[in-house]
Amino acid sequence: AENGVNGSAEKKKVIILGGDGFCGWPTSLYLSDQGHDVVIVDNLSRRKIDLDLGCDSLTPISSPETRVQAWKEVSGKEIKFHNIDVAKEYDLLVQLIKDEKPDSIVHFAEQRAAPYSQKNAKTKRYTVDNNVGGSNNLCCAIIDADVDAHIVHLGTMGVYGYGTSGGEIPEGYIDVTLPGGREANILHPAHPGSVYHATKCMDAILWQFYQKNDQLRITDLHQGIVWGTNTPQTVLDERLINRFDYDGDYGTVLNRFLMQGAMGVPLTVYGTGGQTRGFIHVTDTAKCIELAINNPPATGDRVEIFNQIAETCRVRDVAELVAKLTGVEAKCIPNPRQEAAENELDVSNRKFCSLGLDPVTLDAEDGLFSEVTAIVTKYKSRCDPKMILPASFWNKARAEECADLD
Ligand code: NAD
Repeated sequence: AENGVNGSAEKKKVIILGGDGFCGWPTSLYLSDQGHDVVIVDNLSRRKIDLDLGCDSLTPISSPETRVQAWKEVSGKEIKFHNIDVAKEYDLLVQLIKDEKPDSIVHFAEQRAAPYSQKNAKTKRYTVDNNVGGSNNLCCAIIDADVDAHIVHLGTMGVYGYGTSGGEIPEGYIDVTLPGGREANILHPAHPGSVYHATKCMDAILWQFYQKNDQLRITDLHQGIVWGTNTPQTVLDERLINRFDYDGDYGTVLNRFLMQGAMGVPLTVYGTGGQTRGFIHVTDTAKCIELAINNPPATGDRVEIFNQIAETCRVRDVAELVAKLTGVEAKCIPNPRQEAAENELDVSNRKFCSLGLDPVTLDAEDGLFSEVTAIVTKYKSRCDPKMILPASFWNKARAEECADLD
């Protein structure tokens, strides 16, 4: 049975790993608002990385305790919060799953910045240990806790590699002819462009194995770059505000441009801006997660994979849109990343659309762009412009080329 947007009466118990983060917090509120019973797990590592880097969310985010208290006052609904490290506190994770007996576990709890993952040996090793260790722990914990919880994992479009497939990127699996002539439908080849993306490729292999070996039910969502900040739930109270990253490591491209536009500083386009990427608004991230939890694969089915994007767009075209909106010019700077200067990207997102998703796009007339600009303008006194430029370089050659950035 297919359960589309707002189409399901069945309410689920959902654990959200990483529920304090940029995607996890608005998703937790959305699911709670829809009547699901939400439990958040987060070790607050993202907040600690901000302290280490000397930056902060542009928006003033409240503590997890204040956030869930505010949500209770506003909605009457309870969200429990547990500070557990998914990669390191295995026994606590097993106990929580045994106690809560969730129908679904949404897994956002990873180090998610490609630049941060490329910064130095320490951040490379942390990203692999945290992300791959956490995903493996989750599978082991579901088996140990003896529950049939459906895993919904946030993967990335970056697992496919950009511009390597030469045609429309299907949803996770690809038809091939094997040596000897047998036709098969296999996982799309992995083509990571950073240590972070490599962890998502390794996750995908773990999901494939645990599905086959232990019949875990798993959905992997290959998400595009998320933009926006607020959702209908986070605007209900200032204490519910979502985080907004604008720094060189964690600020993702569209939000970074909107930030620069509001600050009146040039939009920094890396290289020629010819990179084509997938984009999705944060309200649609939350809707896609609900569609995924309402449509789990059956026991024994292979890993379900959805491409979670609204559209693809070339970075220089995104810059042009923001330049038009804000009157601030785009400026090309040397690329800190080792990547193709130009690529095409054609991606199928038919599965979510067939479940009723009607995603917001960048050129929509509903003012979402201006909404982000309004937020950024409101809090721009909190911005440290020095933090906006790239702070991590993919390799020595990239670092040398970027040496003069200031
Ligand atoms: P985020 O860093 O804001 O949130 C991740 C949360 O997980 C943080 O609150 C962090 O403290 C927590 N966390 C990390 N490691 C943990 C651990 N070991 N134990 C417990 N908690 C832990 O990132 P986000 O932007 O919300 O991304 C969430 C997921 O979505 C990530 O897996 C990311 O790869 C994926 N994703 C994000 C984007 C995007 O544009 N933001 C795009 C594609 C995919």
